[in-house]
Amino acid sequence: MDRDPGRPLGAGRFSTTVFTELTALAERTGAINLGQGFPDEDGPEAVLRTACDALVSGENQYPPLGGLPGLRAAVARQRQRRYGLGYDPEDEILVTTGATEAITAAVLALCGPGDEVIVVDPAYDAYVAAVTLAGGRCRRVPLLRDGGTGFVLDPDELQRAVTPRSRLLILNTPHNPTGKVFDRTELSGIARFCVRNDLIAVVDEVYEYLVYDGAGHLPPAALPGMRERTLSVSSAGKTFNVTGWKVGWCCGPSDLVAAVRSVKQYLTFASAAPLQRAVAEALDTQEDWVTRWREDLRGRRDLLAAGLTGAGLPVITPEGGYFLQADVSDLTRRDAVEFCRDLPAAAGIVALPTTAFCEKPGAYRSLVRFAFCKRRDLLAEAVTRVGHLRRPSPPVPSQHLEKT
Ligand code: PMP
Ligand code: GLN
Repeated sequence: MDRDPGRPLGAGRFSTTVFTELTALAERTGAINLGQGFPDEDGPEAVLRTACDALVSGENQYPPLGGLPGLRAAVARQRQRRYGLGYDPEDEILVTTGATEAITAAVLALCGPGDEVIVVDPAYDAYVAAVTLAGGRCRRVPLLRDGGTGFVLDPDELQRAVTPRSRLLILNTPHNPTGKVFDRTELSGIARFCVRNDLIAVVDEVYEYLVYDGAGHLPPAALPGMRERTLSVSSAGKTFNVTGWKVGWCCGPSDLVAAVRSVKQYLTFASAAPLQRAVAEALDTQEDWVTRWREDLRGRRDLLAAGLTGAGLPVITPEGGYFLQADVSDLTRRDAVEFCRDLPAAAGIVALPTTAFCEKPGAYRSLVRFAFCKRRDLLAEAVTRVGHLRRPSPPVPSQHLEKT
């Protein structure tokens, strides 16, 4: 069928996501995929077994729209146990198809055409897409580079982004792609900002367990004046190494959760029943497993950071999440986009220019995001290959290393 190029298909405003492109590139070239953030090992065995049991024991029909009562109760226990935040599983918790659906449904529910959403730049790609789908407009506030060591949000810039059309703030802590974990002082300032400007906060906490070196994750909902205006979003993917399950949730006051639910019913209606049962069990029983995984990840972060630094790519050490930032400006005159374009051929590695998440490249122009949630042998091999970039390159093997 011939299509009229003057009338693009509805989704024509979106190009393929950078993650799909990166993984396709890694598969095509046989490069090590440090681009898309997913681990290459499974989560806790007992949790996988529970999912299998649920599948074969007949839990395969639509679960309730809001999620299995058992999962909502487990989320309520988890928020209470870890953060002292009480939510009623009946009407203050909603199970969603990953954190992505919670965020998208929240934006569609709470932001109308012409409304504005304040987003920290760099931003995870789904936020901007959700605002576009809602017919709203993003006001991006830059997360500034703080010397060579970290990132900081300027409260004055935040305030300058507010207009009479501002409705929401989307915040992500621990932050993808920088690995920044907002501390209590910063979050208190952001909380006062939300209260002062009567904004609803949608807070993406998918890396809530993956915080290193004693930095703690503090949910903004725990700060004064915030519980009644915050939707806290999280999911099982990063915590239990099940990114493909897409089981997420949001917690908040009943009126906000009801608004998200009203949109969710027409996006997916419900989310995979057997996996919900397994995630409920994981939340109740797998904190020790997650503690070990976090320690392991910290070691992988340090392995990759030391290797990249040694190879001439100084690293900004992340306090949380799956990713680190490496600066290519000592190694090359090219920017990170060009560096990453050449990296599969030059070193057999796929990585992501951080500017893929930015409205304005600014100080991010020379930063590359590397995922360190991958197997240690792959990280070690990646380090060796990056080390060759300064010297004439040896031939690059076309396949991943064999699984050990
Ligand atoms: N938010 C952030 C910051 C992410 O990095 C990701 C990627 N996993 C998501 C949301 C998506 O989470 P989910 O897979 O649960 O939809
Ligand atoms: N969150 C992952 C990342 O930042 C990817 C998620 C996705 O593939 N959409 O790499």
